[in-house]
Amino acid sequence: MRETGSNDIHEAMAGHSNYVGRFAPSPSGPLHLGSMLAALASYLDAKAAGGQWLVRIDDIDTPRNVDGAEEVILRTLEAHGLYWDGALTRQSERLDQYEAALAELAQKGLLFWCSCSRKSLRGNIYPGKCRQHTAHREDCAIRLRTPPGEVRWQERSGQAHSENVEKTVGDYVLKRRDGIFSYQLCVVVDDADSGINHIVRGDDLRITTGRQIQLTRLLGYPEATYLHIPTINSRSGHKLSKQTFAPGVDTQNPNQTLTTLMQLLGLVTPTNALHLSIEELLRIAIEQWRLVATEGRYQPTAIENFVGF
Ligand SMILES: [Zn+2]
Repeated sequence: MRETGSNDIHEAMAGHSNYVGRFAPSPSGPLHLGSMLAALASYLDAKAAGGQWLVRIDDIDTPRNVDGAEEVILRTLEAHGLYWDGALTRQSERLDQYEAALAELAQKGLLFWCSCSRKSLRGNIYPGKCRQHTAHREDCAIRLRTPPGEVRWQERSGQAHSENVEKTVGDYVLKRRDGIFSYQLCVVVDDADSGINHIVRGDDLRITTGRQIQLTRLLGYPEATYLHIPTINSRSGHKLSKQTFAPGVDTQNPNQTLTTLMQLLGLVTPTNALHLSIEELLRIAIEQWRLVATEGRYQPTAIENFVGF
């Protein structure tokens, strides 16, 4: 680790004032501690860099949205002092942008219309059966004609990653037969339109990174950097998630929750953490994050050893 005084850190950060980050929850339930961890890490990373932190509601998969969940999520963020910059955006209000991106990919000859039933594919890598259907057809899913070759990228941890998307997922769906745009397409279009250049999120989404970088490159968008935060496991070893019925974060004890999250992120917490204002606690957390998690230096050891819940 480079020895650096606080002035150096501020100078190093000054070059990142164009930083734009985001937190993008799906309104399929309340925020559990694992999602709050991703929210806090992305917030701290943006603020430590003097950047903007946006919040986007990833509600494109409308059948999975739960009434009232968006409101609960936003109130939970606010209760913990995590106020977002700029206007809130929702995927459900951006269908025209996704359609335009699809049209661009179609023009490049990268799409085809697939009539295969889910049952006939049995979850296997798509065999390329409908690849010759390169123009609009009714009652079809729209798939990407996945280009061959490795997608390579480097994460902020310094770790080099590579994925041959053609072999791992094949020709993936960008718009479902029921008319719903895929999460992969929406995220890529949204991030580009909002100028997101730093993505900090849970490790469970790492598997989507190859596809998202591939789509970003095919659409000619600027690329963001990625920092994946370890997910929190329950005592039974499963990732905390809505599917495993992880409880929503209690908004009555924000200092306690923030302190727990700071410890999970490997940050030192002040002994009087429970008696500070939320603003003061977050200010300390931002300073701490600056010390341990600036570009390429994040070592989340605490979280990997965490056993709770
Ligand atoms: Zn097909």
